[in-house]
Amino acid sequence: YSKIQSDLSIAQAAKLLPITEVAETIGLTADDLETYGKYKGKIHFGTIKSLESRTDGKLILVTAMNPTPFGEGKSTVTIGLGDALNRLGHQTVICLREPSLGPVMGMKGGAAGGGYAQVVPMEDINLHFTGDLHAITVANNVISSLIDNHIHQGNALQIDPERITWKRAMDVNDRSLRNIVIGLGGKGNGVPREDHFEITAASEMMAIFSLAEDLLDLKEKIARTVVAYTYDLKPVTVGDLGAEGAVAVLLKDALKPNLVQTIEHTPALVHGGPFANIAHGCNSLIATKTGLKLADYTVTEAGFGADLGAEKFFNIKSRIGQLTPALTVIVATIRALKFHGGVGKRELSEENVEAIKNGFQNLMKHVETMNAFGIPFVVSLNRFVTDTEREISEFEKLCSKFNIPFAITDVWEKGGAGGIQLAERVLSIINQVEKTGSSFQPLYPSHVSLEDKMNIIAKNVYGAKGIELSPKAEKQLRDIEQNGWTNLPICMAKTQYSLSDDPKKIGRPKDFTIHIRQLKPSIGAGFIVAYTGDILTMPGLPKHPAALNMNMDGDGKVTGLF
Ligand code: ADP
Repeated sequence: YSKIQSDLSIAQAAKLLPITEVAETIGLTADDLETYGKYKGKIHFGTIKSLESRTDGKLILVTAMNPTPFGEGKSTVTIGLGDALNRLGHQTVICLREPSLGPVMGMKGGAAGGGYAQVVPMEDINLHFTGDLHAITVANNVISSLIDNHIHQGNALQIDPERITWKRAMDVNDRSLRNIVIGLGGKGNGVPREDHFEITAASEMMAIFSLAEDLLDLKEKIARTVVAYTYDLKPVTVGDLGAEGAVAVLLKDALKPNLVQTIEHTPALVHGGPFANIAHGCNSLIATKTGLKLADYTVTEAGFGADLGAEKFFNIKSRIGQLTPALTVIVATIRALKFHGGVGKRELSEENVEAIKNGFQNLMKHVETMNAFGIPFVVSLNRFVTDTEREISEFEKLCSKFNIPFAITDVWEKGGAGGIQLAERVLSIINQVEKTGSSFQPLYPSHVSLEDKMNIIAKNVYGAKGIELSPKAEKQLRDIEQNGWTNLPICMAKTQYSLSDDPKKIGRPKDFTIHIRQLKPSIGAGFIVAYTGDILTMPGLPKHPAALNMNMDGDGKVTGLF
């Protein structure tokens, strides 16, 4: 089996509506948009402000079981579900993250959905789009250059060059930049020190951008961001450098949410793009809140499995943005079930009913996690044409056995038409919950200790025995406590492939400990990052990067982008 048509060729064949026409379907006029060409637009802040008094629509979060390296189709299902709800006559807006060039050029490919459930124009969205990622990268790097210049010009703030925590950023996978030395070349070329790059999608600047309520909140978050410590260990902020104005100015257009459309013309806000393993993993708060004002249903996605994206969506984004999600869709695939049942990556296309039984344990853990958050859910089996009848019927049997609400979804093959069953399930559960009221709540209150927060996540979401702090993390924890930053939520940085911090532990591992290697206060974003296992914030490229498949003709028509 090979795909009859690539995602790109389906996207290129789609008939797009002018973005102003798409905007009209959610009550916006051309005056509400700043258009970027014919098919992309940014929504003005004035428009967003004018919507404030409206009541919010319902928020649906799409998450997944632990994925295989190929992705299990969360974006695809998010888009297909949005299209299906629209087909059923419910006004719906989709909210997605902006793709990072890291995965596009690296291993996983684009992030604009797949098959007949895609947001378009696909190449634009996956490549430079409206320039937001570049603006965020520059905003990040201006801070670095101001720090180094400050030291060079006499260092009035007494910044210790060995205690600069702010890193430079770039939106590509480049392992050689993880650890570098800068300022070489003698006097006049800066003060030599060790520095580091991280990928833009993992940077604190991306998190700040994605959690900001509006421009003033953005500026405030930037100002309070801790970038270094002085020789006597006092935190130094962007505000101390006097740079928050300049940095915020660089982001003033980027912060306006981007409006595009699906192949079926459902409006989609694609904005903000933090990764879910090494950052908090969901699109901008501004986009989500705008969606809630504009439509009856907003369907959004949080990256990787529910142990990462959904946990952070509930404990970080929903807390900071005061959101109450109505329901979660957990995406499962036959291939991920087999993978977690012990089948090797190369054998995943062969039928294996027994492996599905074993792999179902992984899905069960995420179901239990949704119950712990008090959030209703539907499992969506994202069907691949290679899935066999026997495999699907085994999945159905297991769901029935454990009383798990589910729907088989064919949105990749059929677009919105393949998501009707899922949409109907979703609507009926939301209606039921409407009557009883939401029992959703984050897993921990803000006031418990940081150690307790990490233990709560490790035990309740990962199924671990608990956490173990490295000596370095212990010391950092004491420093964080001394600085009074204990009320913040935790942002776990962990592998996406396993519930544990070891990517090789598939399925539902038992009797394991989560190793906290390092803690980093992200005071601007408003959380403490806990690095587990050996997760890195600047990924490397694989042996055969996706970049090597790409090409274009003399008219600029792109091929090999997937
Ligand atoms: P995620 O958001 O979970 O990372 P995506 O929606 O980006 O996953 O999908 C990952 C890749 O898998 C895309 O290239 C997409 O085209 C492909 N894909 C998703 N669902 C299906 C399906 N049902 N059949 C075939 N390919 C699919």
